[in-house]
Amino acid sequence: MRVPEAGTTVGRCTFCRDYIIEGMGNRSKYATIRGGHWLCGDCIISLKDVVISAFFDYHKEADEKQKKMLTKLEKYGWSVDPETGKLQKL
Ligand SMILES: [Zn+2]
Repeated sequence: MRVPEAGTTVGRCTFCRDYIIEGMGNRSKYATIRGGHWLCGDCIISLKDVVISAFFDYHKEADEKQKKMLTKLEKYGWSVDPETGKLQKL
């Protein structure tokens, strides 16, 4: 990937509306594009509490869903082979 020279304006943050200029520290170091819109590193870092909370909730819900599915499988006489991950009749 080509890296722009320090001092080059790479875009404008959609959240804070500030310019992202290469070499601006965290603002440019962690800047990214999502759906065609720039997000600066400062805004991304400021979202960390919300993102971490959402990340853990997402995985907790996925684990609960998996447990519910496994319980249903057992009810109908099936289980998941822990080594292969394939369904097997009990
Ligand atoms: Zn920003």
